[in-house]
Amino acid sequence: MSKLLVLNAGSSSLKFKVFGLQPFAAGIGGMFDRIGDGANCTLKASAPPHAAGAQGRKWEQKCFAKDHVSAMQNILDFIKDNVSGAFVREVVAVGHRIVHGLDISEPVLLNDKTIDQIRAAAVLAPLHNPPGLQGIEAAAKVFQGVPQVAVFDTAFHQSMPPHAFMYGLPYELYEQHRIRRYGFHGTSHKYLVEQAAVMLGKPVSETNVITCHLGNGSSISAVRGGRCVDTSMGMTPLEGLLMGTRCGDLDPAVVLFMQKQLNLSVKDTDTLLNKKSGLLGLTGSNDLRSVLAGAAAGEPRAALGLAMFVYRVRKYIGAYMAALEGQVDAVVFSAGIGENSPAVRALILEPLRGMGLDLDAAANEAVLRGHRGDIGAPSSRARLLVVPTDEELCIAEQTLQVVGFKPSEQPTAQ
Ligand code: ADP
Repeated sequence: MSKLLVLNAGSSSLKFKVFGLQPFAAGIGGMFDRIGDGANCTLKASAPPHAAGAQGRKWEQKCFAKDHVSAMQNILDFIKDNVSGAFVREVVAVGHRIVHGLDISEPVLLNDKTIDQIRAAAVLAPLHNPPGLQGIEAAAKVFQGVPQVAVFDTAFHQSMPPHAFMYGLPYELYEQHRIRRYGFHGTSHKYLVEQAAVMLGKPVSETNVITCHLGNGSSISAVRGGRCVDTSMGMTPLEGLLMGTRCGDLDPAVVLFMQKQLNLSVKDTDTLLNKKSGLLGLTGSNDLRSVLAGAAAGEPRAALGLAMFVYRVRKYIGAYMAALEGQVDAVVFSAGIGENSPAVRALILEPLRGMGLDLDAAANEAVLRGHRGDIGAPSSRARLLVVPTDEELCIAEQTLQVVGFKPSEQPTAQ
């Protein structure tokens, strides 16, 4: 039975998902966490409800892995024990999520040249691309001769026009150092656009949407005719919305001021802006559930953090309605917050009635975790949709396209 493996490597984690190809269906998936932390590593996995022999089963076990290669070996042993003893021989392709692809606009088959391109892009994504390369190396050791494909977070946003992707800096910085806006979460935004088109009953090429991926990391995209025309993240994932631990949009002079006044090094500044800011810096928690609970209990900082998060999402939706010249078919909500919090969706959308986005309060409350739905009132000028994102499925589909493997049936999402 042919299978596809999707890998998503972080600095100390390796997420995986197995897809069966006859028929095409999501199978077991999970995450190896705390790589390099001795015997504290954990492997968590779950099987989807339809998985033969393992319906809805969940696993959690302590493991040991000194690096991504040994994490990979642990994952394979786990899959061999719980899914298929012949797994390594069954895998026909491996798809990797790679964060930064510079100006690459399509998924690529991995070879020496494309691996060098990923290495080159690490200059702009020093935290993200090196683990991706480790994931590639780990898979290459095990699946020798099996085609591997890289799917880039930045690729979907390559259609942005220069007036959206350029910064107002000296042009030479773009030419010599590739300093420009790239955007991230592209796999998710692409998936959301495609699913929105299905829900709207329109071809993707005629669909204009604003996609809101609201999770620990958050970004919004404006998409015209299925192609991204603007997105809130920039050269790195730091720009744009207020996030769990990232500050989002900020006057760059604040950075200069902090470096001077607080004597911060480049590394300290990076940590402050990426890891200690956002909801965490403002409220003490990067988890929006805690922020919501704090705000409900009357904690002023939690209320402030919540109000800032919501306000900035709303501001971007307004800006992107302008970017799309008012021709918006739908605003789509997704990821941890967008999928699971009717309260936050309502806080964002209620004040936008004046712009023709009419929320149906009852429909909003009714769309719960893991489900898609339309939460707009019939009077709404654009549909308001909730779509659970599925980046692994999107990576799997793109990987199969690159290697030219046709699965026997339509995908069954987990
Ligand atoms: P990432 O993939 O970027 O790590 P997720 O998409 O998993 O993040 O989203 C995590 C965020 O979703 C956290 O802030 C979490 O609090 C929030 N979240 C999850 N469930 C809920 C919920 N029921 N209500 C509000 N926020 C939620």
